[in-house]
Parts: sequence; C-alpha cells; structure tokens
Amino acid sequence: MTTARIIDYLPDIYNGILPDFFEKTIPRETAATCESCAMWQPATTSGKENKTLRSFSRESKCCTHYPNIPNYLLGGFLSHKKSDDAKKILDIISNSPGHTPRGIVRPKKIQFLMENSQRSFFGRSKTLICPFFDKEKGYCTIRPFWDAVCNTWFCKYVKGYDGFQFWVAIRKYLSYVEQSLIQFAMYNLNCNPENIENLVSNEQPGPLSLGDLDDLPLDRNRYLSQWGKWAGREIEFYKKCYELVLKMTRPQFEEITGITQKINLAVVKSKYSDLFSTDLPRVLKKNSSMVEEKIEGDQYLIMGYSMIDPFLVPKKLYEILSFFDGNQDVEATCKMIKEHTGFVPDHDLLVELYRFRILTT
Ligand code: SF4
Ligand code: SF4
Repeated sequence: MTTARIIDYLPDIYNGILPDFFEKTIPRETAATCESCAMWQPATTSGKENKTLRSFSRESKCCTHYPNIPNYLLGGFLSHKKSDDAKKILDIISNSPGHTPRGIVRPKKIQFLMENSQRSFFGRSKTLICPFFDKEKGYCTIRPFWDAVCNTWFCKYVKGYDGFQFWVAIRKYLSYVEQSLIQFAMYNLNCNPENIENLVSNEQPGPLSLGDLDDLPLDRNRYLSQWGKWAGREIEFYKKCYELVLKMTRPQFEEITGITQKINLAVVKSKYSDLFSTDLPRVLKKNSSMVEEKIEGDQYLIMGYSMIDPFLVPKKLYEILSFFDGNQDVEATCKMIKEHTGFVPDHDLLVELYRFRILTT
C-alpha cells in the first residue's frame, strides 16, 4: 500500500494554514485510476458487460457535476494557468451570471436538473458534463484549484467504507473552510456586507427565470450591486482574493474559522483513526442489502457499501459468508466455519470484509 500526506491531495494554498494534522499520511487512493478511469473497466476478463455493476461514460467519467469554485481558488487558477485551459473560465467571467464575488457558482438551471434527475445520471449524462472537463483529453482543466467536492471524491476507496467516511469528513471540513475564506476575501476587499451574506448562502429561490434558462448575463443594476467597485475588474478581484489567502498565517486561519473548524477537525481525526483500526465488532453478520452477482471463473462481485466499489470474492469465500448470521460472535462463527469447511478466515480477511461492509454489525 503506497501512502501520501493528506495535504498532498489538497490545493497548495492550504499548505501552511491547515493544522499540522494534515501532514499525516493516508493510503493513496490507487483504486480510482483516473487517467484510465476505473469506471470504464469491464468487470469481467472477457470484457462482456456486467449486468449489475455500474459503469460511467467514456465521455464524462465522473465529471457530471458543476462545481462552485471559491473566489480565492479561481484567483489561483487565473494567476497560474495561461493555457487553453483558462478559456472556459474566462468565457464564464465575460459572459455569464455564474461568476460572482464568491467565485463561480453552479447555475440555477443546472442545480434544478441535478436535483430532478434520477441518480443514474451521474457519470453518464451528456447534458450534465462539467464545463471544466476537457472531453477530448479526458481531464479536469481546473485541477488542482478544484473545490472541496471534486477534491475529495473518489469512485473507489482502498479502505472501502472507512475510506469513504474519511473523505466525506474531509469534504465537510474543506467546505466549511472554503465558506470562511470566501467571506474573508470578500470582506477584506470591501464587498457590500449584505451581498456577502446573500452570496455565501448561495440560495437561489424561486422558479427559473428566462435569464436562468437562457444563461443571460445579469441585468446591469444587479450586476453593479453585486460587484460594486470591482465591476469590470473581476479577474483582478479574484487574483486579489488568492493573494489575501496566500498571505494568511495559521493563527489568522484559526481565528477566522473558529470553533466549527475545530469540531470538523475532530470528526476528521476520528475517521482517520478508523482507517488504521483493525478491531472487529464482537458479532458480524452478512450484509442483507448487499448486491451480488456470480461472474465467470467461479467468482462473485459483491457490492456492500457502494454500487460502484465492488469486492471480488472467490466461491470458497462467498460460501462462508452465510455462516455469519449474527447469532454468535466472530470467534464462534469462525470455529463453525472450520468444522464445516476446513477453512479458517483470518483476522485480516475479516477486517477487509467488514471494511467493504460485506459483513456488518
Ligand atoms: S474518480 Fe472519476 S475519473 Fe477517477 S477513476 Fe473514478 S470515476 Fe474515473
Ligand atoms: S471541476 Fe474538474 S473534477 Fe470537478 S467535475 Fe469539473 S472537470 Fe471534473
């Protein structure tokens, strides 16, 4: 298992302001092989489509999502990327209402479509492919200045459900940090305080307007009230947001993010320790809601905690799962398995089955 520091996964701007805890190492998420997307892989060696396993479109990978990019990360992107990758963002800044002093904001129309589509759109819909995804080259053009959601999403986790829970905690932590730093930058650049509140809450109530439907620019008065003295100088504004956060010290960060940062960090720490725990619950039972499919070579694909992170088990292992019925503890169950089959599942194997929630409490 290869490792990396948590901070290595995050935008550089967080280096030096996030607590020392982010220097800790975690397993690299090597199961999410983004360049050759793991969600393209056929589940069978023959390459036949698998009936149960979900896959994502070659055109989109998992990028059927529209991010909200914080002002300071946008400024970092604009300060560093000079290539074709910047075209889409510059286009949004010049022509679309989706750029505000808080950063790039998901359009209301896209929000509506995401909320009112079946979950199966994810990883498959052409309509919802992210505007910052380069379809031809198959990569994210704004990485590594991406937001908390894109930054912490993997389709598969080396540590199964524990990995998923860890990254969800990091996402919640970073999302809160983003909100705080967005406000910090806006406040220090003299944005209208009422606007700061409205923009940060990011609520867009009411039905879709003609402007929302047709991606029309904001009317002049709304634009001027949103941007104030920065109207027409948006790129400069975003770059200044980046510079302000870049200069931030750790004590300043702690002051700005307050007690909520500390609470969210405590949750991250708890999920972090689960990544390395090899303790098992006293009693385990086969997950009654897992999805399974027999595939070629007498193997089974089992989806325990997630339909996109399957666990491959040989028949011999599959057959012992039903001994775990929750009526006796793990030790007694293993004894019974040995008496009936001669096979003794070792502790590490049981930990893996529990991590992927094939065995549950
Ligand atoms: S995280 Fe996304 S791009 Fe990476 S392997 Fe998974 S689906 Fe593919
Ligand atoms: S911002 Fe990048 S990672 Fe996120 S959805 Fe868009 S292309 Fe994918």
